[in-house]
Amino acid sequence: LEPKEEFSHKTLAMDVMRPRRGDPPLSVLTRDGMTVEDVEGLIADTTYSGFPVVVSHESQRLMGFVLRRDLIISIENARKRQDGVVSSSRIFFAEYTPPQPASSPAPLKLRGIMDLSPFTVTDHTAMDIVVDIFRKLGLRQCLVTHNGRLLGIITKKDILKLHPLQLRPGGHARHHQLDGAAFIP
Ligand code: ADP
Repeated sequence: LEPKEEFSHKTLAMDVMRPRRGDPPLSVLTRDGMTVEDVEGLIADTTYSGFPVVVSHESQRLMGFVLRRDLIISIENARKRQDGVVSSSRIFFAEYTPPQPASSPAPLKLRGIMDLSPFTVTDHTAMDIVVDIFRKLGLRQCLVTHNGRLLGIITKKDILKLHPLQLRPGGHARHHQLDGAAFIP
């Protein structure tokens, strides 16, 4: 990414994060309030690479982050192999899964695919610091919070859109490449 001087020190995480004012709200998963069908709907209706997991829509307290591809694979596998996992099965990201009434379908426990400590910054963090963190930690996305409530997300591309990378000569590790054109040194 560009040197941190590229961002005026006045630009804050809240100015770069999505959703912007007027955008639809952040697409999130809840800890234990969604069914397989709900999550499949979210996957079908969006193209995001990942979803924050919150305790509840009311609290917006961040629990973790789940990659779209891991969700897709886990649900597909569970539908194929796990006895009793159907559209109406509840998905649990919580550590503890309460006993299910005998009449309800088998739950699907997905805590294993959740990143339990996604990187977060507060909405007032200066973007030059955020960019520094992206570069140094090789982040793909970072979540934005205010007083413990999840507010938004910043992806590597959100930053690149504002300050496109210079094309650098090759010879660097492939996993640092982004779209084959640029990379974080
Ligand atoms: P990229 O930024 O690499 O294209 P995504 O496809 O995940 O990655 O994100 C596309 C846009 O949507 C970005 O501007 C990002 O900030 C935003 N975004 C990412 N995840 C979510 C989400 N779960 N809910 C709402 N917006 C998101």
